[in-house]
Amino acid sequence: MAIYIDKPKCTGCRACIPACPYAAIDMVDDIAQFNENCTSCGACAYACPTGAIVLEMAGKGEVDTSEYTGLWVVGEIAAEGKLHSVTAELLGEGRKLAADLGTDVSVVLIGNEIGDLAPLAAGYGADRVYLFDHPSLARYRTQPFTNVLTGLINTHKPEIVLIGATPMGRDLASRVAARIKAGLTADCTELTINPETRLLEQTRPAFGGNVMATILCEYTRPQMATVRPKVMAPQPFDEGAEAEVVEVPVEIDERAIATRILEIIKDDSGSDVNLTEADIIVSGGRGLGDPQHFALIRELAEALGAAVGASRATVDAGWIPATHQVGQTGKTVHPKLYVACGISGAVQHLAGMSSSDCIVAINKDPDAPIFNVAHYGIVGDLFEVVPAMIAAFRERRGD
Ligand SMILES: Cc1cc2nc3c(=O)[nH]c(=O)nc-3n(C[C@H](O)[C@H](O)[C@H](O)COP(=O)(O)OP(=O)(O)OC[C@H]3O[C@@H](n4cnc5c(N)ncnc54)[C@H](O)[C@@H]3O)c2cc1C
Repeated sequence: MAIYIDKPKCTGCRACIPACPYAAIDMVDDIAQFNENCTSCGACAYACPTGAIVLEMAGKGEVDTSEYTGLWVVGEIAAEGKLHSVTAELLGEGRKLAADLGTDVSVVLIGNEIGDLAPLAAGYGADRVYLFDHPSLARYRTQPFTNVLTGLINTHKPEIVLIGATPMGRDLASRVAARIKAGLTADCTELTINPETRLLEQTRPAFGGNVMATILCEYTRPQMATVRPKVMAPQPFDEGAEAEVVEVPVEIDERAIATRILEIIKDDSGSDVNLTEADIIVSGGRGLGDPQHFALIRELAEALGAAVGASRATVDAGWIPATHQVGQTGKTVHPKLYVACGISGAVQHLAGMSSSDCIVAINKDPDAPIFNVAHYGIVGDLFEVVPAMIAAFRERRGD
């Protein structure tokens, strides 16, 4: 990727200067000129109103893949300033892949006053931490995060970049991949290194979850993949681990960012328990027959201290908000206990919950596929079984 200024087109308007997060543009005789800070992140090209800044992309087969080394994880910082669990999971997986490649693992942390997260990232497996610490990066916004990450990738050329398939990660990964013209495989469930080609084999469900596709990015770098939370396992935290911390200087001008966060409004639809973090989940399916019958699921969830999940059929019917959906197009969960009530067990639902430690299924059809993955199956009418369970759990709690 190369960037240059088509001087006759430059009007000296200076729109590029606040857009650059690396303070890499000077005006010389009223014409923009790059200095040594330029990372080719391309932010200025998008801000230039006259097309004077040209970003040239390499075509197929033109990228020198041997220039790219190292495995990166793009860290995610949760609203309370904690490291998102998916970051630890990706670092755990990254360590295995890096060992196969004989390379090291770096994590990129983007936020404000986040220096104290570096030792945590080290404990979960990072050899190096790139820190972007700036007030304008306190909350995720597509534009500044894309600009700083793209610049860092262009400068250091990692071979592999892993990102959590969270709302933030999905947005950022696709934007960065498009900016640097790299391939990106979303929602991977398995990642391996081919010992002969050293390519990252990125496996994910395809065609409605009926086949698993393994995708290769042969011609572009980095090889980029997103992975949902709870799909990979973190490695045990190592208290004594240390990482090299690289603070990356950035200059961000708010005037060049198209969005402002005015207010954060919490979802008050009853989904305040994070499904992906819950130890116990009680899920309802179309077998409930009526949206009002979700009250029974909520009652059982309350008795067990559980979060409420749902099948897509109930979400599509408008019985419950999409934030509760478990499955291929919903959330991937890995609770200690998953109770499926009136859910048939379609392959797309199983894709999101079959790795739960213990699955209890209640269904009146003894041939329902959910029983193929259930550790305990109750063949019966949920309107009889669930109230009996609620009464039994309440009694044990001494209510
Ligand atoms: C591309 C794609 C992505 C998808 N993504 C998802 C996804 O992320 N999550 C998801 O869940 N689905 C997903 N689906 C939909 C999926 O294929 C199924 O249609 C859906 O999971 C069915 O939901 P269900 O089990 O609630 O309903 P049904 O399949 O209709 O099953 C209802 C079950 O309830 C039982 N039942 C009925 N009455 C009672 C009773 N009184 N007591 C006990 N049992 C009873 C029935 O025997 C039946 O097994 C996706 C589909 C596609 C094509």
